[in-house]
Amino acid sequence: MPTDRRPMPLFHVREIFAEPAAAASPRGRQVLERFPGARVVEVDSHWRIPHLHGNAGNVERWARIKSEVLVLGVKKTLAARPNGRSADWIAPSSANGCALACAYCYVPRRKGYANPITVFTNIDRIVAHLAGHVRRQGRKPAPNQCDPTAWVYDIGENNDCSVDALICDNTADLVRAFRGWPTAKASFATKWVNRDLLALDPRGRTRIRFSLMPPADARLLDVRTTPVPERIAAAGDFLDAGYEVHFNLSPVVLRAGWQRDWAELLHRMDDMLPAAVKAQAAAEIIMLTHNRELHEVNLGWHPKAEELLWRPALQEAKTSGNGARNVRYRAAGKAAALAELRGLIDRYAPWLRVRYAF
Ligand code: SF4
Repeated sequence: MPTDRRPMPLFHVREIFAEPAAAASPRGRQVLERFPGARVVEVDSHWRIPHLHGNAGNVERWARIKSEVLVLGVKKTLAARPNGRSADWIAPSSANGCALACAYCYVPRRKGYANPITVFTNIDRIVAHLAGHVRRQGRKPAPNQCDPTAWVYDIGENNDCSVDALICDNTADLVRAFRGWPTAKASFATKWVNRDLLALDPRGRTRIRFSLMPPADARLLDVRTTPVPERIAAAGDFLDAGYEVHFNLSPVVLRAGWQRDWAELLHRMDDMLPAAVKAQAAAEIIMLTHNRELHEVNLGWHPKAEELLWRPALQEAKTSGNGARNVRYRAAGKAAALAELRGLIDRYAPWLRVRYAF
């Protein structure tokens, strides 16, 4: 099966599948105006697009479809879910899907073969829902690993907010909303440096978590993302612009020589990051999990990545709550690797507080 790995612009949108109400909304119109050359195809539901989802032919176009297709939908169910790891709460999504193409990404696990960005256009309702949720929580009663004083809301569980900001103002609207809520804080992980976000004036109420892994792994696995050294180099600018800057050390992929390359990465962070970034930084560590269906899809477009990701000798099966056949590193190997990585942090980046590791 041919694999098209030539560099391509992040967006070259040719087709926009849109629910009529989403296309007619102010946010929908903003997206349509940004891509005036795109063909608009009306759909009943952003979840049911047979031409797009579950079409095995799309495996060959896995990365290309992310730049050429967008979906506009109205998010029907609005709820903030408790989390307790990356954040106290997972905010209702403002988008689902991503134009980047990390080979291990869990977002497409629920969407069949193609995973372009669906923009949820009812951002005003999403913000209003969050405002009510924040108000009902009141003050945070006690510090936890998410934050000492603020309720933290992850606004990018199924998307990359820095990439979404290239398409429309959903990310900007969320950052602006959170700066008015002194008891809460937005948070999102990203693998894309979008300097437009520097102008949003978050006033400390948005935490950006730059995802990092050794550059050698990222070059193979983080397809279409900003190179790791550029993500590190951007951290100081984001802090100066009013963001809290944390790091998402993930996924940790076990392979020959992983300790050496993580040590080098931590050493590079220690060298490159300004003292002010180090003073407020924290990190989460997430060991790789993978999934049989995604493994089979990846074999169709990026088999080299699977040599690193699919390691049955090191991994064990775990059927998740929704029935997905996931795999994770076996418990003993995982615990030993986490202890080793914590040791490397103590040695090369002792200023980096680990919020949690799993
Ligand atoms: S940046 Fe995040 S959401 Fe986008 S493909 Fe990578 S892991 Fe998935």
